[in-house]
Amino acid sequence: MCQPHMPISEIVFFNPALACAYSSCMQNLDELLKQAEIAHGHLCAGQVLGVRMAMLGCARLGISDPRGKDRKRLVTFVEIDRCATDAISVVTGCRLGKRALKFRDWGKMAATFVDVETGRAVRICARESSKEAARQLHPEIENKNKRQMLAYRELPENILFTEGWVRVALGQNEFPGYKSDRAVCAICEEGINYDRYIVRGGQKLCHGCAFPEARYYQPIEIRRAE
Ligand SMILES: [Zn+2]
Ligand SMILES: [Zn+2]
Repeated sequence: MCQPHMPISEIVFFNPALACAYSSCMQNLDELLKQAEIAHGHLCAGQVLGVRMAMLGCARLGISDPRGKDRKRLVTFVEIDRCATDAISVVTGCRLGKRALKFRDWGKMAATFVDVETGRAVRICARESSKEAARQLHPEIENKNKRQMLAYRELPENILFTEGWVRVALGQNEFPGYKSDRAVCAICEEGINYDRYIVRGGQKLCHGCAFPEARYYQPIEIRRAE
């Protein structure tokens, strides 16, 4: 079943010239899409959605320069490892290697943008109905990806996304720049950063040794022929 959606006739199209709050952002849409294309390797509908989602997140938090003067303000949680995630990373400057991009593998086209300075956070999710909205807006374009790429540039944010203010409890050890003591696992003797150990029987264990059945890998025993 399709989700209920607004008929296209009721959609107020996004007019960058009239929307002062986002005008500076929207002028950047083409530029940001270009950068996303370079980073991701191709331009696709998911990229457009990701760029729009990240721009909306920044706008809602009043973060105008996430990769420049505001670069220490933003932490972004993403809920899927797909095209949109790369675009979100390009727009926000939040990267896994900077501890500013957090991945929760929920398979959802959604992201939460956290302003660590104010503690405010907004979660934005792509609507299921956005594909149908693209179909209604550009039925003349047969190629689905081309149709969605164009429509996702043009459709207003409330047609593309749902959004809501949320609270994100971020421990000190989640923040970029957190300095932790390094622990060593009592079983495998591998180093553990950022307090990611489990204490059991007075010993510090890594996740792999504390929960061997939940490991994402299993060691392979190589048997030599005698
Ligand atoms: Zn892609
Ligand atoms: Zn271990």
